[in-house]
Formats: sequence, structure tokens, C-alpha cells
Amino acid sequence: APLILWFRRDLRLGDQPMLAAAAALGRPLLPLFILDPETEAQGAAPKWRLGLAVAAFAEALEARGLRLVLRRGPALEVLRGLVAETGAAGVWWSRLYDPPSVARDTAVKTALKGAGLEARSFAGHLLHEPWEVETGQGGFYRVFTPFWKAVRDRPVPPPAPAPDRLRGLDSWPMSDRLADWRLGAAMHRGAEIVARYQAVGEAAARAKLAAFLAGPVARYGELRDVPAVAGTSRLSENLTYGEIGIREVWHAALRRREEGAAGGAESFLRELAWRNFSYHLMHHTPQITRSNWKPEWDAFPWRGDSAEAERWRRGMTGEPFVDAGLREMYVTGTMHNRVRMVVASYLTKHLLTHWRLGLDWFADCLTDWDPAANAMGWQWVAGSGPDAAPYFRVFNPAGQAEKFDAGGAYRRRFLAELSPDPGAEALAYFDAVPRSWALRPDQPYPAPVVDLAEGRARALAAYGARNA
Ligand code: FAD
Repeated sequence: APLILWFRRDLRLGDQPMLAAAAALGRPLLPLFILDPETEAQGAAPKWRLGLAVAAFAEALEARGLRLVLRRGPALEVLRGLVAETGAAGVWWSRLYDPPSVARDTAVKTALKGAGLEARSFAGHLLHEPWEVETGQGGFYRVFTPFWKAVRDRPVPPPAPAPDRLRGLDSWPMSDRLADWRLGAAMHRGAEIVARYQAVGEAAARAKLAAFLAGPVARYGELRDVPAVAGTSRLSENLTYGEIGIREVWHAALRRREEGAAGGAESFLRELAWRNFSYHLMHHTPQITRSNWKPEWDAFPWRGDSAEAERWRRGMTGEPFVDAGLREMYVTGTMHNRVRMVVASYLTKHLLTHWRLGLDWFADCLTDWDPAANAMGWQWVAGSGPDAAPYFRVFNPAGQAEKFDAGGAYRRRFLAELSPDPGAEALAYFDAVPRSWALRPDQPYPAPVVDLAEGRARALAAYGARNA
């Protein structure tokens, strides 16, 4: 009887524990992707980017004689229907860890097992399952450095190569057409522009990893904070859809550390551990994705949406480093990590706005959106999260720009108004934003939404009042 492989954020053939186990059995395989309400609920950019990932994965399966069957509807309903149609004996999937996925998968597993079917979930999205890493007392880690000490030398299973032989079905059940799903329908922000920056699929992801490890990794430690330089791996977009396996990335970086790119490779491994840490936190404290991790922050006078917050979303705050970051996100679908911290600090401190508003905006705009990393990032900057930067440490965007974008190359790259001869990327922002905003590159650059010193003082006063 066929085995249904329910793919979600594991759209690859190599370093795929579920697929390796299924291939070893020699049973006929029915690869499936479901557009269920949980997946539909994603933001515009990640949903659009998911469509590219699914298309590339379907092609990779096709080349091996398999078909990716596409179905739409609540997961359990779809799975039951497909079992009835094909006589499948079971459903396998790679585990996810965000609260909506966990709720769905738990219900699916219980129901399938209750119907006498084999329902099995596999590891594969993370270096270690979030519950495997424990403190000496048997609890979970709330601070990164001891977590890092616990995982730095912890063995990670080696990546399995893509299976040589995969057995498909003799006759395939009917499939939706991907185009009919219109996954890009909500992407009003210039999908053709963002598309130029995406490296879609397993082969592209692997090539990116190889290129990074052959060069930039050596100077990663010093250049990872310089947004004008392509000094990081840019793998987040691929990791989030599982176009490349984390174990493969980890082992490749370990080899580079041994071969001599020591310092850079070590810093890179540490960042991969940050990703795992965010999942560790989300597993043990799922509320991190929506509410203050430290409940005492519930009393903080965060502001809700406002005209200032809208100017932030638009990249029109008048603070160049902040605007450059938000515009980078419009144009490329991503934003440099240093700048993510600066724009998040500006929103939550200078504009005193609730971090959830920023989290939601990122979730709508980032093609590398990840539920755990996004939540941890926002709460870390806002001060409400575990191991967070203390609230009184307010990033000064001008100071950050001076330090990490000394020559101004990054700001010029994305801010047309600041240059007599703006480049293509700075101009692309004006094509990417909705026409209704009526923005033109020859308009003057906006005056600052808030004076930096005043914004800082206001944030600290609110913080002091809360502590009083
Ligand atoms: P590299 O520097 O090459 O790092 C390699 C990998 O390590 C990344 O691909 C990523 O998987 C992981 N990583 C690196 N830094 C972090 C981090 N701080 N937290 C968790 N994992 C990390 N990352 C996302 O993948 N999705 C998000 O939605 C996201 N939202 C964020 C929101 C805020 C407010 C902040 C401050 C950070 C956020 N990050 C998020 C983390 C980080 O900015 C990105 O992972 C990184 O910029 C991706 O670029 P890269 O692949 O070149 O990273």
C-alpha cells in the first residue's frame, strides 16, 4: 500500500530523514503538499515565496519519476480523502514546532491513528529537537550563551544523501494546479522586483552554501555586521522552506572550521545555534509568538498603530538607516540582521510602538519569515523577551549607521532621495510600493518623525514609570 509523504517546510531530497526512511522501505510513495488554512494564514511575501519553493520541489520530484500532488483544504480532511482514494496505509511528515502547526499535527496524528493508519513524524527541521537539550537541572535554557555551550559540541546526525531510487505510484491521483492557488495574490509589493533576489530550490541553496563557505565565511566574524557587504550566507530564505537541510549546513561549516576558516566558521555555527535556540524557546514557551515573554511587560504603555508606525512601515521615517532597512525589505524581501535590530529598536523605543506590530509587518514582508526567529528577534530587541537586551539600551540609529555603514554605501543603495544619481535598487523601491502612495524619487527626503534624543528620553521615561 502507498505511503503518503506530507511535505511542508522540508522541500528537499537531500538531508531529508523522512524521505531517506521512506525510500529504504521500497514502498510506493505519494508526495503531497496541502494548502490548508494554517498555510493560507501566512503573510503575503512568505506565501508568495512558498509558491516558488513548491514549484521547484515538484520539478525535482518529477525528475525522479514522482509527482507532487497538490490539494487544498483542512489537512485531516485532505488526508482522509486521499487515503480513501489510494488505499494508502499511512502518512509521514517532518515535524514543525510553531503553535498552530503543533495543534494541527497533533489532531491529525490522533485521528489517523484512531483510524488504524500509520502516522509518523520525523526530525529534520532543526539541529536538535527542542526538548532534547536540557540544563543540568533538567529544565530549558532561557539564556543563549549556556545554550550554545550545551550544543556547540553536541553531535548532529550526518545528513543523508538524496535517495537513489524512489518508487512512485502506477496511477496518480488528481492534483490541483499550483497556479490556481494564486499564492502570490496578496503580494502587492512588486513581486517581480523581489523575485530577482530569490535563490529558489535545493540546487540553488546548496550552491549558495558552497559559495559562502568557499569565501565570505573566512571574514564572517568581522563582516557579518556590515550591511553594505554581502558577508553572510543568505540561507535563511532556504532554511525556512527546508530547501536545504540544517544538518547539511552544520556539517559543512564544521568541516570549514577544521580546514582553517576557524574564527568565521565558529561564528557562523553560533548563528545556526541561535536559530535552534529560537525553536527551543518557542517549544517551551509557545506564547513567545504573540505575548510578552516576560508578563511584567504587559503593563508597559506600548502604543498601537499610528501615523508614525505607518511611516515606519513605508520606510519614510526620515531616519536614513531605518528607512534603508525597511526599503531593503520592499525591494529584496529580506533585511540585513544588523538593520533588523535597528529598525525594531526604533519602532519599539523611539516610536514606543508594540513589538507585535513590527512582528506582523515582518511576517507579511519577509521571504525568509520564520515564526521562531521573528518572535525571538522582536522580543529580544523590545526587552520583553528572554535573554533580551535591557530596555534602557536604546539603539541610536545614527550611531549605528556611523559604526556599521561608515561610508554610507548601504543607505545610498536604498535611499534615492539622498543621492543625485540613485542606483537601480534605490529606484526599485518606488516601483515596489503601492501606486496609491504616490511616491516619487525626486520628492525631498522626509523630515524625521521623531527627534532621536526626544524619542529616547520618552522611551526611558515610559520605562522608568513602569519600574516605579
Ligand atoms: P547568516 O548570518 O548567514 O546566518 C546563518 C543562519 O543562522 C541564518 O540563515 C539563520 O537561519 C540563522 N540565524 C542567524 N541569526 C539568527 C538570529 N538572530 N536568530 C535566529 N536565527 C539566526 N531570521 C529568520 O530566518 N526569519 C525571520 O523571520 C527573522 N526575523 C527577525 C526579526 C528580528 C527583529 C531580528 C532582529 C532578527 C530576525 N531574524 C530572522 C534573524 C536574522 O536577522 C536572520 O536569520 C538573518 O539576517 C538571515 O540572514 P543570513 O541567512 O544571511 O544569516
